[in-house]
Amino acid sequence: MNLCYNVRMGFLTETKALARFPPLGRHTPLAAAQNALASKRFCLWQNVRMGFLTETKARAFRPLRAACAAELFLPMKNDGSTEEEEKTMEREKLEQCLEILEREYGGQNCALNFVNPFQLLIATILSAQCTDKRVNLVTAELFPRFPDAAALAALEPGALEPYIRTCGLYKTKAKNIVLACRALQQQYAGQVPADFDTLIKLPGVGRKTANVVLSNAFGQDAIAVDTHVFRVSNRLGLAHASNVEATEDQLRAAIPKEKWSQAHHWLIWHGRMVCAARHPACAACPLAMCCEYPDKQA
Ligand code: SF4
Repeated sequence: MNLCYNVRMGFLTETKALARFPPLGRHTPLAAAQNALASKRFCLWQNVRMGFLTETKARAFRPLRAACAAELFLPMKNDGSTEEEEKTMEREKLEQCLEILEREYGGQNCALNFVNPFQLLIATILSAQCTDKRVNLVTAELFPRFPDAAALAALEPGALEPYIRTCGLYKTKAKNIVLACRALQQQYAGQVPADFDTLIKLPGVGRKTANVVLSNAFGQDAIAVDTHVFRVSNRLGLAHASNVEATEDQLRAAIPKEKWSQAHHWLIWHGRMVCAARHPACAACPLAMCCEYPDKQA
């Protein structure tokens, strides 16, 4: 029997459906969740949305969700007839999330100051484990002195360090910036290549930096997964991944290509403004209804 289906069709009330969760006999949220976990067809947000659970009851599942989140958030494996519905609901949820994100953060762009791809490349390298605000302060002094790859390539890393010291990790960053600029000079006539595979070969340039440059400086469709995008997309359930690379793949598969770059900014801004790493403001979050984070505070 597919209880969710019967409740949705009006054949069963929520109370009767909960009473039929075999075989535990106790219809506590824990027992119900354990049963649902065993049947592998349970997803809280879907049940809330269908009216199968109230938000209050769904919240009561949190202790088990925290312990078994990976299992509980497996897509529902229904008995054939509703599999297509399941995909449709996932798609609807994604669209709903994107709509809310766009409504809240539409128009937000890269917070790093730059006027050309070279400046964005250097600013993005500097932004690792540093705030954009701090990077903007540093680059406001750095770029007038060193306006292009040739100027930075002529330096020794030690000579660059004093200019970027406040960004943190400055020794590594200075070395990578100088080496990257020398590579640009020697191989690309001082220009930043607009190609992902080429960019990630430059010292200090990983997937995130390459995607930021391609998206913001060259207008290409790209999703850069930084700490905010990783955290927020996995909390919301737009991705279910344990590393940034898998998160990027899943977001690219889930989000329409023309929205990749914008969605990247929306997720970053939501992470900055609402969904902080340690104390997310869930009570004020416009996405709380579709959020799958087991420890959300709403
Ligand atoms: S409900 Fe909380 S955890 Fe979920 S997206 Fe909103 S702020 Fe983040």
